[in-house]
Amino acid sequence: MSVARADVLVVGLGPAGAAAAEAAAAGGARVIAIDRRAQAGLPVQCAEFVPMMLGVETAAVSTARVQDITTMATYVREAAADITPDFRGHMIDRAAFDAALVARATAAGADIRLATALRTVAPDGTCTLGCGTTLSPRVLIGADGPRSLVGRAVGLPNIDLMETRQITVDLISAHDATDIFLRPEIAGGYAWLFPKGKVANLGLGIAPEKKHLLKPLLDELHAELLAARRVGPKIHAHTGGLIPVGGITGLAARLGPTQVLLAGDAAGLVNPITGAGINAAVLSGRMAGQAAAAFLKGDAKAPDDYAEEATDLFAPSIALALTRRRELLAAYAQGRPDDAALRQGWIAYDKYWSRTPAQSPREVKEPA
Ligand SMILES: Cc1cc2nc3c(=O)[nH]c(=O)nc-3n(C[C@H](O)[C@H](O)[C@H](O)COP(=O)(O)OP(=O)(O)OC[C@H]3O[C@@H](n4cnc5c(N)ncnc54)[C@H](O)[C@@H]3O)c2cc1C
Repeated sequence: MSVARADVLVVGLGPAGAAAAEAAAAGGARVIAIDRRAQAGLPVQCAEFVPMMLGVETAAVSTARVQDITTMATYVREAAADITPDFRGHMIDRAAFDAALVARATAAGADIRLATALRTVAPDGTCTLGCGTTLSPRVLIGADGPRSLVGRAVGLPNIDLMETRQITVDLISAHDATDIFLRPEIAGGYAWLFPKGKVANLGLGIAPEKKHLLKPLLDELHAELLAARRVGPKIHAHTGGLIPVGGITGLAARLGPTQVLLAGDAAGLVNPITGAGINAAVLSGRMAGQAAAAFLKGDAKAPDDYAEEATDLFAPSIALALTRRRELLAAYAQGRPDDAALRQGWIAYDKYWSRTPAQSPREVKEPA
């Protein structure tokens, strides 16, 4: 059995792990970053929308940008769309985006190892990889997504997970809005049509106990949009995946002498209403990588500072979304939510934001 040496082991090379590996390596740490996937970003499990702000944070957005989004159109049942103007963002090629972030980590000096899975984490933080190699890093960064093994090893798993299903179809006419479909039958979730040049991602997310409805509901929506001549019949790709919707699990922990930091989906940094998590993954990953480098240089408080700063940054929007999600699920528990309840549970509407002073749909700029 071989032994590898690194100051920092990053598990997962999605947006969180790649950003963490880049930041830790740029900060002078010896970094090994692994992903069980053979190619970064593939297969794509994403609707590929990112908020405008992320383009300011990382050049990977411009590398992967396919088209811009200007508005959001929300369809409540069969009613005409409610338009949220000035809802700006980009549709990206997610595989190209993840690959660009990994290229940045490589350029910063991280040792990137694809097709390499983390198999076990011992109580002292010793990690065993699928190939049998063991490592005892001083800092272990868990950026390994919704079902994070690192998160489970420190007792901070994601408990609530939303199920999704998505197809990519032809788009009949160019479109620059993210279309959202709120329907009572999509329990605890919603459907989306996100345009991506000549094609569009059409999908939905739903509470796990309704997982069996994913396919029939998606088939039904596809048929409706086909009849409305908005999309074509051909399905170019199928995907899906889990989205953590239970809020922040935790950001820093210890396993014996090993400092553990969680980032992105592994830390539950996803908006429990929209399911958006790319922005938070990149930002939290970068912050975790910087904290790892600072810790290795002797700043013993860096992990706690990371936890505090990430909580300050992400907790307010996640907490509000959690409240709205619980209200929505409570409405389902009593039967089916009415239109008012569906609207209160979506970011396009004043009632969603009603605890925050005087925010109108016009001011909704970031989904997470
Ligand atoms: C269908 C769908 C649509 C979505 N649409 C959007 C959207 O439009 N906009 C948005 O902002 N968010 C969206 N999200 C959420 C978004 O994809 C995630 O929030 C984002 O990918 C989180 O990044 P991450 O790096 O934390 O985790 P991930 O991207 O999940 O990366 C984790 C990585 O860890 C690797 N890994 C896991 N376990 C191990 C292991 N044991 N060993 C080695 N490697 C491991 C995985 O292979 C993976 O590459 C969507 C999610 C789904 C499922």
